[in-house]
Amino acid sequence: MTLPGDEQSAAPAAPQTSGRKTLCTELGRSPKRQGGIVNPPVYHASTVVFPTVEDLAFSGRKSEKMHYGRLGTPTTMALEEAVAGLEGGYRSHVVPSGLSAATAALLSVLRSGDRLLMVDSVYSPVRDFCKNFLRNYGVETVYYDPAIDAAGLEALLQEPAAALYLESPGSLTFEVQDVPALCEVAHRHNVVTIMDNTWASPYFFKPFDHGVDISVQAGTKYIVGHSDAMMGLVTTNQDTEDRVRSTIWGLGLTAGPDDCYLALRGIRTLGVRLEAHQKNTLEMAHWLEEREEVAQVLYPALPSHPRYEIWKRDFLGASGLLGLVLRHLKGDVDAGIKDMLEGMRYFSMGYSFGGFESLVTPTKPENYRSATTWAPEGPCLRLHIGLEDTEDLKRDLDAGFARLLRHCS
Ligand SMILES: *Cc1c(COP(=O)(O)O)cnc(C)c1O
Repeated sequence: MTLPGDEQSAAPAAPQTSGRKTLCTELGRSPKRQGGIVNPPVYHASTVVFPTVEDLAFSGRKSEKMHYGRLGTPTTMALEEAVAGLEGGYRSHVVPSGLSAATAALLSVLRSGDRLLMVDSVYSPVRDFCKNFLRNYGVETVYYDPAIDAAGLEALLQEPAAALYLESPGSLTFEVQDVPALCEVAHRHNVVTIMDNTWASPYFFKPFDHGVDISVQAGTKYIVGHSDAMMGLVTTNQDTEDRVRSTIWGLGLTAGPDDCYLALRGIRTLGVRLEAHQKNTLEMAHWLEEREEVAQVLYPALPSHPRYEIWKRDFLGASGLLGLVLRHLKGDVDAGIKDMLEGMRYFSMGYSFGGFESLVTPTKPENYRSATTWAPEGPCLRLHIGLEDTEDLKRDLDAGFARLLRHCS
């Protein structure tokens, strides 16, 4: 990070030699520029003042020099530097939410008349954006099967496309995509690749090592990590940086300094939190697999997952979010699910994930499909496994399943 008065530097400083946990602790801060204080200060800023007319003149390029609050402060830049370094990208940009990260990335590469290839298991508000916005601007969205292979993508690209959008694993259904194979095909056809990296976070998946051009994520989830701020991040490679930056600037996107600080603070413990989420979630996933109420556990780190081998090849770990397909139930299933979920002691019902706490929601993935069908054996749930003791979580689910079975069998 560069503070006012520091020399302008052209390239972001991302030490590539440190391990992932070390990177979490060292990126985006510089005690020696802050009188030895460990963390960077929070700058509340709109106006930046300049001593000369020449300094006042805006170069139009992003530099570490401050121009105006919306275009970056030492606080936003510190977060951007940390995320770019963790992701292994060229630059990162803060935006107000994960959804705005996805939409800004799409707007930076699409023009009227373009064709967009969109994964069918995408986070559903992105699907709404394609339908309600991109379509009005003349962009056609073509949905594809998350399990598509290189040959399948080749076939889809017989007709040109401008962008390939991936999300791996997919929202609600957790299909793992063959990211390197798909990006390789996309690049041969001059197609820009965008990936939503929210589930793994950059701690467990390095998008730029696998051919992704633009990585987007809801920092709201694991980066912030404590369910107390909204945050989006768009990370670019060198080729896509100018387009993404001018789109984000053109749309006027930024995020508040206190939220950026919370995100930066979240990054300090990202490694330990995700390792703990993974340990708890693996244990819970194995336990759930043995339950007679459960038909299928949708978690890429389980050997029973249909894309386990791809997950193992490409990912560095697995986070705390998983799906459950319950077995086919007869009786008043809705009343059973209601009784189960409303009576939970440790699992709360709520959207989002990535905080320290466990969450559960009923899901209907079949409502968000167009290229594939999702026909589960029984009702679907999504669980976020938090940092509680797994014995408590097991007792909670055990009692919850008993309430469910009071209404159905
Ligand atoms: C939550 C989420 C988003 C949106 O993030 P917000 O910060 O809530 O806007 C985008 N993608 C995925 C995969 C998500 O889970």
